[in-house]
Amino acid sequence: MENTNQEYGLVIIGGGPAGSAAAVYAARKNIKSAIITTEFGGQSVVSDDIQNWIGTAHISGMDLAKDLENHVKEYQGEFLNIVKDKVVKVTQNEDKTFSIKTGKDDIIAKAVLVTTGSVRRKLEAKNADVFEHKGLTYCASCDGPMYKGEDVVVVGGGNAAFESALQLSSYCKKVYILNRTDKYRADQITVDKVLKIENIQIINNAVINEVLGDKFVDGLIYNNAEKLDVSGIFVEIGQIPNTDYIEFVNKNTVGNIITDSRTQRTSIEGVWAAGDCTDGLYHQNNIAVGDAVKALENVFVWLRG
Ligand SMILES: Cc1cc2nc3c(=O)[nH]c(=O)nc-3n(C[C@H](O)[C@H](O)[C@H](O)COP(=O)(O)OP(=O)(O)OC[C@H]3O[C@@H](n4cnc5c(N)ncnc54)[C@H](O)[C@@H]3O)c2cc1C
Repeated sequence: MENTNQEYGLVIIGGGPAGSAAAVYAARKNIKSAIITTEFGGQSVVSDDIQNWIGTAHISGMDLAKDLENHVKEYQGEFLNIVKDKVVKVTQNEDKTFSIKTGKDDIIAKAVLVTTGSVRRKLEAKNADVFEHKGLTYCASCDGPMYKGEDVVVVGGGNAAFESALQLSSYCKKVYILNRTDKYRADQITVDKVLKIENIQIINNAVINEVLGDKFVDGLIYNNAEKLDVSGIFVEIGQIPNTDYIEFVNKNTVGNIITDSRTQRTSIEGVWAAGDCTDGLYHQNNIAVGDAVKALENVFVWLRG
């Protein structure tokens, strides 16, 4: 059903864990809604084995995507429209409603929930793409436990890198942090914690040139000459949020939408945001879902209000 020629109470943009959760809750609350997404599943769709989706010990990213889509489709009908398209622009109208432009339509809504997530900033080094998901990963809390007792590298100098190293240090033998400069972007309190951990070693002014391995990672070269033998490389050099198409809400310097963590409201009345596109500190499937549910509870009260 792709009837977009109407005004909605709520338009949800994005079909990852956050958007899918929001769509289910919106339909169950009888809010006239549309979910507009390029695809269902979100970032972890590429994962072979997700081990922390609560209630399911193991699920592949593809199966999680199918489950999310099927759950949303269960509610497709009177209250929920599913639109498979890309949103290119959101603007606010004089009457305070919002216009959501896709390639084909201009959809009007009283409220908008932005859940378009982000993409990880990729490591630029020889073979980094070849070993992605074969020892080189972009999610320490997702894949870290698979590297128990092994030597690993965390790439980055911000909070995500330092917190990932802390996490990994509790089960990996040795954790190297490879930082491009001699300054840390992580909070001092986190840096201090890391400095006290014996099995973490920070290497500053280190630029990775090449990832080594046969089928899986077994090392890397940095600064053109130095070699480290490691079986895991955790890249934490930032995320790029998918928020360019909505310009009028307050964002941080990276582009994450600033939200009130109690309600997920943004700086503009009528716009909510949830999941990885927000300035929330932690980015996980379960958190994205929880944020979206919080937002939906608040949207419901606001729409009735
Ligand atoms: C490789 C990898 C593995 C991971 N593994 C785990 C794990 O094991 N456990 C865990 O908890 N977390 C994991 N994560 C993190 C987790 O995937 C994210 O925290 C989660 O996906 C965030 O959900 P989201 O709904 O906020 O955004 P996303 O998952 O990023 O979903 C965004 C959605 O918006 C859509 N979209 C984007 N732009 C537009 C647009 N302009 N118009 C319409 N639609 C748009 C996309 O198609 C997508 O459906 C992993 C991340 C990565 C990168």
